[in-house]
Amino acid sequence: MKNISIIGATGSIGTQALDIIRQEKDSFILMAFSVHSNYKKAIEIINEFSPKYVTVTDINAYEPLKEYCNKNNIKTELLYGMDGLNTIASLNEVDMVLTSVVGMIGLEPTLKAIKAKKDIALANKETLVVAGELVMKEAQKNGVHILPVDSEHNAIFQCLQGNKREDLDKIILTASGGPFRGRKLLELQDVKVEEALKHPNWSMGKKITIDSATLMNKGLEVIEAKWLFDTDYENIEVVVHPQSVIHSMVQYKDGSIIAELGSADMRLPIQYALNYPFRKKAIVEKLDFSKISSLTFEKPDLETFKCLKLAYEAGKAGGLMPTIMNAANEVCVDLFLRGRIKFLDISNIIEESMDELSYNEEITLENIFIKDKETRQFIINKCL
Ligand code: NDP
Ligand code: MG
Repeated sequence: MKNISIIGATGSIGTQALDIIRQEKDSFILMAFSVHSNYKKAIEIINEFSPKYVTVTDINAYEPLKEYCNKNNIKTELLYGMDGLNTIASLNEVDMVLTSVVGMIGLEPTLKAIKAKKDIALANKETLVVAGELVMKEAQKNGVHILPVDSEHNAIFQCLQGNKREDLDKIILTASGGPFRGRKLLELQDVKVEEALKHPNWSMGKKITIDSATLMNKGLEVIEAKWLFDTDYENIEVVVHPQSVIHSMVQYKDGSIIAELGSADMRLPIQYALNYPFRKKAIVEKLDFSKISSLTFEKPDLETFKCLKLAYEAGKAGGLMPTIMNAANEVCVDLFLRGRIKFLDISNIIEESMDELSYNEEITLENIFIKDKETRQFIINKCL
């Protein structure tokens, strides 16, 4: 039996993780979870799973949830803010922490969980983008597993099992290409938010869906792969594979390629990460090859989808450049979703932030937070 704490239980990943816990009651207990704004969903989770703790990070959700808990004599203890996130990330009675908040807000609780020697099921890729080196070092020091939930990294993790690391030639990350695959810059000038939110294969939270449309998601994943699998950027290749059947692959030095295939359903990698090292009965629909007419592959268009190129540049530059890129992306996606900037402004503003801001400061947690704040302010001064 594993006791689980979910940081960000109300989102797309969190909800699907709860489905695994619901269907595998003999394996998991939901000990704690966090919610930001969606207190109604928090009430449903409390009533279904009776966890010991819930943390709320948005004051506007904290008050009504507190009122509900008091009125209904709820036993679940209510916590608030970053302290609350850090508490549920490091509880004695928790074995594994799933970090499924969106954005670099996940960094601090993830580090707290690692220091408390909890295994991590990591969906929150921004954490590795800004602080991959610190997080992986801390994980090694504390002997904890970082189990990737992101489907590509989960696939690579599976493809690496039972093989020698020194035999690895390269990692091949597959990308669906997003809703605008095949379009050129001119055709992207006036795309609407609703169009960008229509992902062809995956149903996900808004931020990652926009990241998929700009291909920044793949860029974040390149940096995530660098840290998770301790490899050079030269050995990470991105291939567009619109059907999303192959979730990613690795090539070994003899030319053999091992791939992981499956349905485009995030419950598959979540189930694998939560149960590692065991495999459980399928919850997702199994692949039926008679229904797959073709699997196709193409090169990503780095001129149109500049974000992917910028991510390689940020990763290779190192230092605090990935923090600048990530912060700029978080702000720009938010501004785009609120109709304040256009789709192509996202990559242009990220590029400008990377050109303008210094990135050679030492990589410490404090400097990462300072640079994150500085970048957000830089863009707000520019755009508002
Ligand atoms: P969602 O937007 O669906 O969910 C985000 C979660 O984070 C919600 O629980 C939300 O709470 C919480 N949250 C939002 N803002 C804050 C904040 N300021 N402080 C604390 N908590 C906050 O995102 P996804 O589930 O799609 O993605 C989560 C992470 O997983 C991202 O890093 C994403 O890149 C990664 N990922 C997602 C995949 C997917 O299929 N969705 C696939 C691979 C990786 P509330 O809803 O209560 O406001
Ligand atoms: Mg992914």
